[in-house]
Amino acid sequence: QCVTACPCAALDYRRERGKVVRAINDPKKTVVGFVAPAVRSLISNTFGVSYEEASPFMAGLLKKLGFDKVFDFTFAADLTIVEETTEFLSRIQNKGVMPQFTSCCPGWINFVEKRYPEIIPHLSTCKSPQMMMGATVKNHYAKLMGINKEDLFVVSIVPCLAKKYEAARPEFIHDGIRDVDAVLTTTEMLEMMELADIKPSEVVPQEFDEPYKQVSGAGILFGASGGVAEAALRMAVEKLTGKVLTDHLEFEEIRGFEGVKESTIDVNGTKVRVAVVSGLKNAEPIIEKILNGVDVGYDLIEVMACPGGCICGAGHPVPEKIDSLEKRQQVLVNIDKVSKYRKSQENPDILRLYNEFYGEPNSPLAHELLHTHYTPKHGDSTCSPERKKGTAAFDV
Ligand code: SF4
Repeated sequence: QCVTACPCAALDYRRERGKVVRAINDPKKTVVGFVAPAVRSLISNTFGVSYEEASPFMAGLLKKLGFDKVFDFTFAADLTIVEETTEFLSRIQNKGVMPQFTSCCPGWINFVEKRYPEIIPHLSTCKSPQMMMGATVKNHYAKLMGINKEDLFVVSIVPCLAKKYEAARPEFIHDGIRDVDAVLTTTEMLEMMELADIKPSEVVPQEFDEPYKQVSGAGILFGASGGVAEAALRMAVEKLTGKVLTDHLEFEEIRGFEGVKESTIDVNGTKVRVAVVSGLKNAEPIIEKILNGVDVGYDLIEVMACPGGCICGAGHPVPEKIDSLEKRQQVLVNIDKVSKYRKSQENPDILRLYNEFYGEPNSPLAHELLHTHYTPKHGDSTCSPERKKGTAAFDV
């Protein structure tokens, strides 16, 4: 099985266009799509759509393909930040396991479970944005609209192959119903567009649908390396100071394509030390130090498996030059700059969702639907020889 040979599950690439088309053609199904931030960066550059028009273009394109409702995945990025930063601040306050690693990249999660399971207590318990969105749509949206879960078909459109494996994990299937029924890569979505003979000029730009319509610029930044940490800092600094953050929203030192970037923020004398890692090989030295009891000097560590983050995901068409990646990142930075809301915690649709459904961040219901626990995958063939020798967990 490819899935056991590749630490990111990136080789386990099953095309799901057929499943999605069958659901669209089934009159009993309400087909809901949600689009990751990084997808629009590619769409913008591929079709020459301005960054302001990239989101409406995406919504219009999916409606033309036959989706009944189209939500913005960025909403789930905002939800992730509120849950994950609340968990981070609670770990600081209660002297929990530190540093906290982010958990929104399934490639990274697979790598930890298979190669470094001892580090699992350092992982945030938050599900990835994809799985938070799936759980929210299948529970909150289904209830709100009076739709049976069996009749909702939820599709995520992402630049990521590992998310296909993630959506099929048993933790995210309840009574035989998956939280996310199918995962389309950007490439598959473009193929569907071609098969349906849709020309870019025929796409009528539209707004994303209620009730997850409003999103923040911070959530948009999730599409590139450093975005999760930057969005978390915009919330953590505000919570730690108790003051609304109005300027210095940009943490440029943790953006870009280097393997490891870092920043130390002084918040009223409390230092928040952040590292941003892109590319799994760059995470290994940090993990080895933690396992050897060395203080790595960080409180929060973002890890994304793909170099540069999701804009470089294997589900996108391959960029011809590194330049293209920079252009993809710039689309996201530009959208953030002109966003009405630039912090996840001020997104009014997120606040309403807590008010009406989840109660408060990290509430029991939020824990039930938005958090999970990862488990060691012992004896996996991806262990390096050194790890096999040195770690009891791998003495198989
Ligand atoms: Fe997927 Fe790569 Fe993004 Fe991780 S960094 S979520 S593996 S596209």
